[in-house]
Amino acid sequence: MAQLEPAAAALHRDALVWDDHGGWAWSGADKLEQLERWRASGIDYLSINAGFDVMPWELTLEATSRYRHWIRTHPEHYLQVETVADIHRARAEGKLALSFDLEGMNALNGDLGMVDLYYRLGVRHMLFAYNRNNAAGGGCHDEDVGLTPFGREVIAEMNRVGMVVDCSHCSWRTSMEAMERSAAPVIYSHANARALWDHERNIRDDQIKACAATGGVVGVTGVGRFLGPDGPTVAHLVEHIDYMVDLIGPDHVGFGMDSVLHVHKPGGGFTRNRDYWPESQYPDGGSGYVRPEDLPHLTQALLDRGYGEAAIRGILGGNFLRIAEQVWK
Ligand SMILES: [Zn+2]
Repeated sequence: MAQLEPAAAALHRDALVWDDHGGWAWSGADKLEQLERWRASGIDYLSINAGFDVMPWELTLEATSRYRHWIRTHPEHYLQVETVADIHRARAEGKLALSFDLEGMNALNGDLGMVDLYYRLGVRHMLFAYNRNNAAGGGCHDEDVGLTPFGREVIAEMNRVGMVVDCSHCSWRTSMEAMERSAAPVIYSHANARALWDHERNIRDDQIKACAATGGVVGVTGVGRFLGPDGPTVAHLVEHIDYMVDLIGPDHVGFGMDSVLHVHKPGGGFTRNRDYWPESQYPDGGSGYVRPEDLPHLTQALLDRGYGEAAIRGILGGNFLRIAEQVWK
């Protein structure tokens, strides 16, 4: 990887760096000490995945409880975020600000009241369906269906409590209907451009434009499988950022890297449950993830591409911060 120049290092240090998704499946034995890798890489805010449709909904509560406890008992370097002000406070104190997200509404167990409960526990964004259709809407690897009546109710409740609506992993129809319906800006916390890399998890131009039209932000993601033929490279990341900036402008682009705590064993990961990761889309265990340590090189790469400082600060974190300011209560 190219040398990091002083200007890039300084900008990366000075900018708010916001990673909108860390893709961990709660296992009960996660080494949360590894969060230091994010903090040491100049990341100021990280949303930790606390649950997804593949796991039983009760496990989401267990994960949230364990994460909260761990954060509370490691106050020297970490802060559980409740408000936007907490993010600024964490930065000023050199701490990593943390909150949670949910990948799929199986975590609600069919109960609308769970939206408010999860918000109080620190969940700040949630998507409808993880790859497969569920009681709320459609997933990206299933029949293309729209929102269900329950999914529509959940949007209204998310708008009410201040939880950000996320369309990652969803079907085309569900995402377009959600963006039409939400009263607040909608995001893709982690999705790349399908025009550049034709994978069902990536999103089409009309989805990217509809997201920006809500005032929202599309976060590109560092999952090698969704980036391109060379896997998890900063060069591929910048290609997806360039493409989206051309389409919707630099104020609507960010990232959710989906970096994992531990690398799956060969043959593990995407091959472990073919219902959620179909073989046609995930022929093997995957090609890895962009690491937190790579992110300063993203800042370097954007400078090298001629991006101005204001645009870079927005992409690194300012744009997702704006969404939090507008939506969180
Ligand atoms: Zn995901």
